[in-house]
Amino acid sequence: MEFVLSEEQVDLRDAIIRFARQEINHDLSTHDSEGTFPFDSWQKCADMQIIALLLPEEYGGCGSDFLTTVVVMQALGYSCKDAGLVHALATQILCGLQIHLFGTPEQKQRYLPALCRGEKIFAQAITEPGAGSDAIGAMRTRAEQTADGFVLNGSKMFISNGPIADVVIVFALTDPDVSRLGGVSCFMVEKENAGLERCRSIEKMGLCTLQNGELVFDDCHVPNSALLGRKGQGAIIFNESMEWERSLLPAAHLGTLERVLETSVAYAKKRAAFGKSIGKHQSVANKLVDMKVAFELGRLILYKAATLKTQGKRAAMEASIAKLFISEGLKQSCLDAVQVHGGYGFAKEYEIERDLRDSVAATIYSGTSEMQQAIISRLMGL
Ligand SMILES: Cc1cc2nc3c(=O)[nH]c(=O)nc-3n(C[C@H](O)[C@H](O)[C@H](O)COP(=O)(O)OP(=O)(O)OC[C@H]3O[C@@H](n4cnc5c(N)ncnc54)[C@H](O)[C@@H]3O)c2cc1C
Repeated sequence: MEFVLSEEQVDLRDAIIRFARQEINHDLSTHDSEGTFPFDSWQKCADMQIIALLLPEEYGGCGSDFLTTVVVMQALGYSCKDAGLVHALATQILCGLQIHLFGTPEQKQRYLPALCRGEKIFAQAITEPGAGSDAIGAMRTRAEQTADGFVLNGSKMFISNGPIADVVIVFALTDPDVSRLGGVSCFMVEKENAGLERCRSIEKMGLCTLQNGELVFDDCHVPNSALLGRKGQGAIIFNESMEWERSLLPAAHLGTLERVLETSVAYAKKRAAFGKSIGKHQSVANKLVDMKVAFELGRLILYKAATLKTQGKRAAMEASIAKLFISEGLKQSCLDAVQVHGGYGFAKEYEIERDLRDSVAATIYSGTSEMQQAIISRLMGL
């Protein structure tokens, strides 16, 4: 498999890097310390059609392919230092993809144009206070059928964009008595639906601008038209979505890893100790070599997963390997970057400490590293 980017993809990547550097890195330290969402930068990204890339033109999208979207996310992770904003954008893109893949023509018409324009903010809610890694098996949120729709009861935890979401894609049990795989369904819930409470954002160690919190459903009525996909299709939607998610989120992580690598190499060339640049001390150079290896190998597996998805093929194994390898590589690289920068790496001014704080979540969301290992071993037939 060859991974040569087209001229258009290279031009688009360069345009995103220029845009992010000029337009969306302002006020980050304030937003980061106050835990506020940068709505103005969000709108600029939407105006730049970052959210719309993958969706069809008839719904306000650009009709680009998945590999191009991955290239754009990588460019954004590289040039936008606000990983919380990048995660919020990725969540919106993934919600759009779910509606595009499983929605009715009416649902696509109702939601996708506003999603593309960034006018409405979307979230997807699977995790619960008592069900994370075993989200489907231990799910408690119920959706009971009524004469004219469904009533949802339960709560969802750690939902990205949740506290500011206009629309939430919610997974709930419609038939707890059948096997879990066939008993889960998926619903489009709007903030206007009575019975949905969006709780305040949780304070986190990183991704501080990302608004992430609990959603409570208390006799929340939705019409039949809110069902996304067929009744009982929730687990299929979940599995399909995870494959896309584990190919898209690592793209942003890889971009950040590339930035951290470049910053660290430049610093190691400039900073001197014991009469030579610190990069000439082998134990410092080894850290930079490890980062380079993580970046180059991460890119190969990521582009393989993205190319398979672009060709309409399954990529469960490749996506899980990409998620595991790149998120762990990013976390270790950020830790090493702090060490290479010495005391300055620990200082907020140098911005490496924020990359480190942000990187930790990458090994947790979209399935923890341990769960990726479990998936890979299952796919190996173990
Ligand atoms: C920043 C952030 C954003 C998020 N965004 C969303 C979102 O938008 N929507 C959403 O639905 N959820 C979201 N989540 C939730 C996330 O998907 C869960 O936190 C994650 O799946 C882990 O679940 P848990 O926190 O309940 O941990 P647990 O499942 O309780 O796991 C705790 C530990 O046990 C390990 N463990 C559990 N089971 C096994 C096993 N079988 N084998 C080996 N180890 C195991 C885990 O790997 C972990 O180390 C987000 C989380 C974070 C941190």
